[in-house]
Amino acid sequence: MSSIPIQELNKLERLLQQGAPYIRHRVLTRVRFRGHNLPIDALQVGDALPDKPALLLTGGIHGLERIGTQVILAFLETLIKRLVWDTHLQAELNDVQLFMIPALNPSGMIRNTRSNGNGIDLMRHAPLDAADPVPLLLGGHRLTTRLPWYRGALDAPMEPEAEALCVFVREHLFKAPFSLVLDCHSGFGFNDRIWFPFAGRSTPIQHLPEVYALRNLLFETYPNHVYLFEPQFANYGTHGDLWDYLYLESLNQASPFLPLTLEMGSWAWARKNPLQLTRLMGFFHPILPHRLKRVLRRHLILLDFLVAAVRSQAQWCPSLQDRAHYDLTARALWYP
Ligand SMILES: [Zn+2]
Repeated sequence: MSSIPIQELNKLERLLQQGAPYIRHRVLTRVRFRGHNLPIDALQVGDALPDKPALLLTGGIHGLERIGTQVILAFLETLIKRLVWDTHLQAELNDVQLFMIPALNPSGMIRNTRSNGNGIDLMRHAPLDAADPVPLLLGGHRLTTRLPWYRGALDAPMEPEAEALCVFVREHLFKAPFSLVLDCHSGFGFNDRIWFPFAGRSTPIQHLPEVYALRNLLFETYPNHVYLFEPQFANYGTHGDLWDYLYLESLNQASPFLPLTLEMGSWAWARKNPLQLTRLMGFFHPILPHRLKRVLRRHLILLDFLVAAVRSQAQWCPSLQDRAHYDLTARALWYP
């Protein structure tokens, strides 16, 4: 088999070797593409047991948005180095299951496309139509693989990348007493945004009080944070969002499952460096080395925060009697 022409996967392999004592790793599935047999790797850092709350970091589900993968690998690299000496972190990762699937769409990475090797946009691909009107094309369509945002054929089986993600979430997150996802993307707008479901409907999710409490926790803990925090549908609605699909499924489970999306605002990179507009990659990825470094550094605080927040969820999740008040306040903010 020829070596894999994806620098992020090669870096991941090096990190898995370096971090071997602290990491459990397995290949969820392999995707055949242009003679390669591309792995989708999942790993757990630390050895917290399945009865602990869980955090999953995912990236690269849109092949063009490599920065999401790179942010996760930068975090992983730091964790591996810290676990050697940082007893606080060792204890923390005994109490929270920290999972990563850093590169969900390796064939899209090779093609430099948003879609996977079959031309399907994995984030429009879940078997779920939006309940409210969504933008034409951008919201997901079934016209042709030649246009971005293609959902795949109606009633076709799920693509292996999406299927592997769903199986993993059911197995490891739904069974945890509390779970949260941060799915790292780039490419929309000037600001860094944290989105929560729904992508396909204008109504609030059942766990709006928990999302609102987390938002307050982040904003109060880090008053100088850079994030907008909002429902995804407020930006644009889509069909077939995998997180909507999994969230709705999770409502059959007893424990909360909160899937968040980090949209790194890459238009700001293009504004500072108009050259990026002329290079397709650049629109979704900071080209200048100092800017790349800044982006990789910038989100480490958020990732650290999420590990701590998931570990200590009992401290900030609203109690049964507070939920109604949180719900009311959150609706006034996000669903006026
Ligand atoms: Zn994306």
